[in-house]
Amino acid sequence: MDHFNRKNGVLHAEDVSIPAIAAEVGTPVYVYSTATLERHASALKNALAGLPSVHLAFAIKANPNLAVLGVLARQGYGADVVSGGELKRALAAGMPAEDVVFSGVGKTRAELQLGLDEGIGQFNLELEEEGEVLADLAHAQGKTAPAVLRVNPDVDAGTHAKISTGKAENKFGVAIDRALEIFDRLAKRPGLNLRGVAIHIGSQLTELSPLEAAYKRVGELVAQLRAAGHTITHVDLGGGLGVPYHAGQTVSTAEEFGAMVARVTQGWNVTLMFEPGRFICGNAGVLVTEVIWVKPAAGNPYVIVDAAMNDLARPALYDAYHEFEAVEPTGEKFVANIAGPVCETGDTFAMGREIDVVKSGDLAVFRTAGAYGATMASTYNSRALVPEVLVSGDRFAVVADRIQPETIMGAERVPEWVR
Ligand SMILES: *Cc1c(COP(=O)(O)O)cnc(C)c1O
Repeated sequence: MDHFNRKNGVLHAEDVSIPAIAAEVGTPVYVYSTATLERHASALKNALAGLPSVHLAFAIKANPNLAVLGVLARQGYGADVVSGGELKRALAAGMPAEDVVFSGVGKTRAELQLGLDEGIGQFNLELEEEGEVLADLAHAQGKTAPAVLRVNPDVDAGTHAKISTGKAENKFGVAIDRALEIFDRLAKRPGLNLRGVAIHIGSQLTELSPLEAAYKRVGELVAQLRAAGHTITHVDLGGGLGVPYHAGQTVSTAEEFGAMVARVTQGWNVTLMFEPGRFICGNAGVLVTEVIWVKPAAGNPYVIVDAAMNDLARPALYDAYHEFEAVEPTGEKFVANIAGPVCETGDTFAMGREIDVVKSGDLAVFRTAGAYGATMASTYNSRALVPEVLVSGDRFAVVADRIQPETIMGAERVPEWVR
């Protein structure tokens, strides 16, 4: 469910027409809906409300825009961060440090130190040595770092290989069958409050069964750790809930997820932590683009749009599918390829797809672009960095400027021997 609907034949974000935004801000531009963000944030919160103790940390890599984070902070969400930069964003958005979870397989010593300095709520450790370093840093400063150990449950998430993270061969977490011995050694260290375990098996999971299988393994591990004398108060179940990318696609709902979690975690007697990203913001954004040309080709014509792989990388990166629709469709359809202007064959959004008939100058959108969209944007081909707009009711605001090549060039230096 989202708040991008047609009124009098024209696509709107809530009560603002997409052409009005394009006229003022230009294209390409990401447009986010506050009501949709709030809807998903509260749906998940409500679905988990029956559990004894819950902590929700938005995985801000999915959409780190400060205004988006502000909306979610007001919904009571903390942040799951994977870099020092994301940690700074969470704090800048007003999320309390104690609500921040620090994940990531390659946290540097400087990043661990930043987390300690800011007093974040939890470090999710990815390997034993990271725990040793964190313990030493904290102990030297008279601190105790709250931490959990991320385990790799060796479950196939059934999603795209590039967003699978819970198979034994993936780089994330420690092998679940080695968790006890690592726990035994790390839990003794002064400077560390090793209080639980974490998992995150992958992203865009449209079915609950892989999550359920992984959670059950975590439940067994918790029992095993407790039997060995460890105190387990926190279990971080990660993120991964999928969203519909195809029109009419059904995915597991927040309610189904909540019911599954309640069933599987019954009696665990811990604070359950969640790190949703895509589920909260995926459908809350579209990428608005203008058709530059409709180019005849040997096969289907190419619709060349002014958005490209540097603005929305998912199709090039993961063969991802995004619905494409005209902002003011005529009702006619044709079969076409959709591509951007970047000089890469990979800069293709769709091949041989039946879409609304569009012509040069028409506006169109890529749907479900609110997650892993703008956050992955680059300036490849010296294109401007794509701007972002947030809508609420009949208001909209530019929440990230279009960064022009002049600004990017301003950060470059030509040494004297080249001049
Ligand atoms: C990316 C990531 C998430 C969020 O994944 P979604 O599929 O967007 O919910 C959560 N936790 C960790 C550790 C991640 O790396």
